[in-house]
Amino acid sequence: MLFSHLLPDLVQSVLDALPTPVFFKDRTGVYQGCNRAFARLVGRPRREIIGLTVFDISPEEYAKSHFDADAALMQSGGEQRYEAQIKRCDGERRHVVFHKAALYGVDGEVTGIVGTILDITERKALEVKLADMAERDALTGLLNRRAILAHLEALHRDRRQASQTLCLMMCDVDHFKSINDRYGHGVGDEVLRKVAHALCQNLRDGDRVGRIGGEEFLIVLATADVDDARQVAERLRHLIASMEVHCGEDTSLSVTISIGVAQSLHQDEDWSGAIARADEGLYAAKRSGRDKVVVTDAHTRLVHHKDWHQS
Ligand code: GH3
Ligand code: MG
Ligand code: MG
Repeated sequence: MLFSHLLPDLVQSVLDALPTPVFFKDRTGVYQGCNRAFARLVGRPRREIIGLTVFDISPEEYAKSHFDADAALMQSGGEQRYEAQIKRCDGERRHVVFHKAALYGVDGEVTGIVGTILDITERKALEVKLADMAERDALTGLLNRRAILAHLEALHRDRRQASQTLCLMMCDVDHFKSINDRYGHGVGDEVLRKVAHALCQNLRDGDRVGRIGGEEFLIVLATADVDDARQVAERLRHLIASMEVHCGEDTSLSVTISIGVAQSLHQDEDWSGAIARADEGLYAAKRSGRDKVVVTDAHTRLVHHKDWHQS
């Protein structure tokens, strides 16, 4: 036996005073001791835990990974820290950090391990929430500029590697400034929310919508077929034109959008060419009277080009 079942009372009571679960095992993975917090987590008294292995107290799917981690630590010596999920005795799954260290005998050989379990469930939930907030636009809930461009960059890279293309739609609300001027910013904001919601309709799995500016939205389509993209754009244009936004007692307004559509090219080294062409289509739609969809031919020479990496 590696450790005495009966630690000196003082050591045991110090460990029991710790709110963090603490356990120790011998070289074969058999529990040799633990504190009260660990026993509570497992749902068994300490005396029953001693002599068991992790397979006796955890579901198989978790036990195997802990056992393997223990084996690696006993092989390497030193310390080990990893995040994992555990199932508490009441059935609740929690996110935790295991922090373990190898224990050494007088001859310097690893004789077992000692570990602590820090519950980070709340922190983990907050991390997920913050990560989501960091990529969402607060007004519309759509992806923000950084997130939609990051998605475009990644998808463009994947498509290029597979010798495939993608399509983009650059959408801009027509005469939006006059809506703000006439009805106030509150109504303007409501228009943006409604347009954002409408743009999410008719899209397919893999398509993504982001707000890249005040009243400008970028849609990255999973489709590589530009005629397909044109049809989606026309459907969205009609949908938005038929929408009514409440703007006062018994009054409502309607808005239109202009859309530039473009396809990436095999020779495009990055996504900026496709986005500049979609932007070009948008400006052409504006010039030709708004409430229009313009597909920029892949080989059209650009007259309007802004550097999307800089903006
Ligand atoms: P065009 O048809 O040429 O696109 O004209 P426009 O009036 O839509 O375009 P312009 O760029 O002149 O005006 C855009 C306006 O959008 C100006 C800006 O104050 C307003 N805006 C930008 N962000 C927001 C926002 O978050 N809420 C509201 N209510 N207005 C915004
Ligand atoms: Mg506009
Ligand atoms: Mg604009």
